[in-house]
Amino acid sequence: MIHHIEGGYANTYLIEGKEGLTAVDVGSNLAAEMIRKIITEKYGEKEGGLKLITATHFHIDHIGGIARLKEMFPEAEINFFSMVSKYISGEEQLAIPPFSRWVMGLVPVMTRIGHQYRNYCQSFASRKAGIPLPFLRDHTRIGYKPECELEESHDIPFLPGWRLIETPGHTPDSVCFYNEKDKILISGDTILNMEGTGELNRFCCSIEDIETSFKKLSSISIEAIYPGHGTPIVGAKDLMEKVKVMDSKKSGL
Ligand SMILES: [Zn+2]
Repeated sequence: MIHHIEGGYANTYLIEGKEGLTAVDVGSNLAAEMIRKIITEKYGEKEGGLKLITATHFHIDHIGGIARLKEMFPEAEINFFSMVSKYISGEEQLAIPPFSRWVMGLVPVMTRIGHQYRNYCQSFASRKAGIPLPFLRDHTRIGYKPECELEESHDIPFLPGWRLIETPGHTPDSVCFYNEKDKILISGDTILNMEGTGELNRFCCSIEDIETSFKKLSSISIEAIYPGHGTPIVGAKDLMEKVKVMDSKKSGL
């Protein structure tokens, strides 16, 4: 069971697993509040329900609400893909697509989610999130100490049946989460659904890399895509064949 939460700038997902709940891409404080509401309604006030908080990549619209969620559920573990540790330590700069593509990609997204400005600014101003803006990229401040231990070859803690798939392109640290039994893919900003048919994101640090990642994803069986932006696409066989590869002029965030 996956809850789709539209409380933030990007989509947030709450996975009900055998070992508890996992929150993916908590992009805003509002998304964190909505997760708390779901957990409280379903499980009462106990904190133990939420085991893991993770993200598909280290961009603010996917991580901006994690500090707030961690405050509410201090027992939950925050664990990212191993590459994220370099952004947090400052060893590497946050991955940002070229500025021109960034502006082209941002405008259509912002017009669709204008009502989220306040929510977004609130998370942004918290200074607890990674800030993926070119002029602030050296000032990554986060208000928690995450683990960065997730790897493609390892099982994900608290999330049996799911695995991480490295899908660089949008950023070098972009990953998807895949459930082989149910053929579900949480695709982050690798595959979006802003157009209603699913599309490979062209708002990328490396177009070449994302095309390679798309080929990799095409080799696995997927019947539902939960994208980073846009509505989930469910119930389709051979979904990847139908995913439209957008031309470079159309981009998403
Ligand atoms: Zn992103």
